Amino acid sequence: MSEKPPLQPADPNADFLLHEKSIRSAIDRVLQSGHYILGPEVDAFEREFAEYLGGGHVIGVANGTDALELALRAAGVRPGDLVATVANTVSATVAAIQQAGARPVFVEIDAATMLMSPEQLDRTLSLHGTRIRAVVPVHLYGNPADMHRIAAVCDSHHAAIVEDCAQAHGATIDGQRAGTFSRLSTFSFYPTKNLGALGDGGGVFTRDPELADEVRLLRQYGWRTRYISEIAGRNSRLDELQAAILRAKLPSLDESNEARSRIAARYSARLADSSLVLPQVTAGAVAVWHQYAIRTEKRDDLRATLLDAGIACGILYPVPIHHQPAYLDRSTRLPVTEKACDEVLCLPCHPGLGLEDVDRVCEVILQ
Ligand SMILES: *Cc1c(COP(=O)(O)O)cnc(C)c1O
Repeated sequence: MSEKPPLQPADPNADFLLHEKSIRSAIDRVLQSGHYILGPEVDAFEREFAEYLGGGHVIGVANGTDALELALRAAGVRPGDLVATVANTVSATVAAIQQAGARPVFVEIDAATMLMSPEQLDRTLSLHGTRIRAVVPVHLYGNPADMHRIAAVCDSHHAAIVEDCAQAHGATIDGQRAGTFSRLSTFSFYPTKNLGALGDGGGVFTRDPELADEVRLLRQYGWRTRYISEIAGRNSRLDELQAAILRAKLPSLDESNEARSRIAARYSARLADSSLVLPQVTAGAVAVWHQYAIRTEKRDDLRATLLDAGIACGILYPVPIHHQPAYLDRSTRLPVTEKACDEVLCLPCHPGLGLEDVDRVCEVILQ
């Protein structure tokens, strides 16, 4: 038995403790204010996060799944349309496509990065034509998909893009933030994300004021004027407590992403000579290491060995969407995706982790 407490794949409590003072004072401010949903804290967070992304509009919503749904609807996705995405993602990506009334079509991934392959996307779009109204690349593990090439492919097929940035707050490609390569992009502020609230939260980003206006209407019953629905909308609001907590944490997002990068760099250096396949960052990109995802054919054995040593690892994601009971589709074959799901293992990687913890994980792996 190891004397240290077990290492977890993510640690939102450690993240809270790092920001405890500013979070408690933010909560107090909200409690006293008398505004609890869509008030001044949400307005301020929307401005501050938009500024962080380089200017534009953020619309705070209830969670990352809703953010995707509303962005897809603003992108023109209508019931019966097809939306292309990847199958090695969380069910939320596909749930959002269905919430928008559309059907998912899965694009094969690139074997090296495990992200949407631009070549395969071109094939998928050629196959289905304009029935695919939008494409959702997922910046999985904090590593941005190859947006230059994905955007070029989507342009040539007249498909809209909605980037799923739920794991990539602050990542860049050639110095440009993930989420700014398409007209609409979405974020989740679930507690374990790189920028996490202490409850649910999400956001849509766009530079287009008309699209921002439409998402704003969609998030609250289509209201511009209270009690008058201009369009048929939803209830997907962000509350003041979560917005205030996010404002307390946003100023240290870069610092916390740098801490993740140092952990990733340590893993990569220590494990360079092992038989594991180490994560590969997209050319020109700076990843924000939501996960440090290695690959090995002996994944299940390695996971068990690590667990015995008090180190819990995540598997994002063990079953590709098209093999899950709710979305079972036997006609879809994605050998590269399926193999990735069989081999991937996410080592603990979060800002609450010390480099000595990383070394301990590496020692167990190397033994
Ligand atoms: C977390 C996540 C979502 C969903 O966000 P919620 O806030 O949990 O609804 C969507 N896509 C990806 C890739 C995610 O990691």
